[in-house]
Amino acid sequence: MAPIVYMVIPCYNEEQALPRTASVAREKLEGLITRSVVSPDSRILFVDDGSRDGTWSLLCALTQETSLFAAMRLSRNRGQQNALLAGLMTARPYCDAALSLDADLQDDIRVVDDFLAQFAGGCEVVYGVRRRRDTDSAFKRGSAKLFYRLMKVMGAETVENHADYRLMGRRALNALAEYGETNLFLRGVVPLIGYPSGVVYYDRADRTAGESKYPLGRMLSFALEGVTSFSVRPLRMITLLGIAVAAASVAGLLYALISKVTGSAVAGWTAIISSIWLLGGLQMLCLGVCGEYIGKIYSEVKHRPRYTVEQLLLTARPREWETDADSE
Ligand code: UDP
Ligand code: MG
Repeated sequence: MAPIVYMVIPCYNEEQALPRTASVAREKLEGLITRSVVSPDSRILFVDDGSRDGTWSLLCALTQETSLFAAMRLSRNRGQQNALLAGLMTARPYCDAALSLDADLQDDIRVVDDFLAQFAGGCEVVYGVRRRRDTDSAFKRGSAKLFYRLMKVMGAETVENHADYRLMGRRALNALAEYGETNLFLRGVVPLIGYPSGVVYYDRADRTAGESKYPLGRMLSFALEGVTSFSVRPLRMITLLGIAVAAASVAGLLYALISKVTGSAVAGWTAIISSIWLLGGLQMLCLGVCGEYIGKIYSEVKHRPRYTVEQLLLTARPREWETDADSE
């Protein structure tokens, strides 16, 4: 039987891009249903991430158009990762697979067939990977490269040039639901789930309308999130740095003693002042890194909900779970 597929689209202030995105996605899904590639129970689920513009009223109007459209609204802006998670977790009881994509049509919707083919072929997770990055500004390209390199050095496993264009089968979604972390970084979590996975290559287009919601500051905090949520290597590096500095200071002490004994000691103001600055800086850096992790622990132990659904407009019946659990 054809699988029930939910396309999950997070939207934050996307009133400009939405009308086109909705019609393109609908056309795609209707095509797939006609060809019996996916079940007629498939849906396009928009997640309004607490938008402040007309996004929600647009979405409400869309759900009136056809039952293929479904919409949910978060109580406030929680960021793309949480919005996506909210969508995936809402879709989970209804679907066989969920495909996440951006509201600005930057993810080439034509390759959805490839995703589905790989899913049918037994892949539980299919990653959309960008073939080239020439539609990005030189800055975004450079920073993205730096990001992936940093992630690798820091020991977090991610799929290079894969953003959040991804298909996950129900088993993978169930596994994802078990990851209860507050500081969510889906690109790092999904590879941890395991299961057979596949890759689909695509070219990323320009944003169809509206502006990017990821300015520099947000991108930096996203990268920091990625590293500190996935790796304790920075903490290890601090320890190593501490050992190195301690060793160097022993050597320095020996040198100072010898100079003293041989009587060649001079008033080394420069050396003293520079080492104070250097060590002070290093200590502050190390404290900062430790602080990052402590902050993470703080927000994790509070175990606050990652999102709150204010409203859900969806006409579908959840699948029978009991039979599923038996078959797994
Ligand atoms: N987005 C969201 N919440 C946010 C920021 C962004 O749901 O707080 C959505 C946004 O509507 C879009 C997707 O995340 O569908 C990717 O955002 P954007 O296109 O602005 O990022 P870029 O492609 O520039 O990296
Ligand atoms: Mg975009």
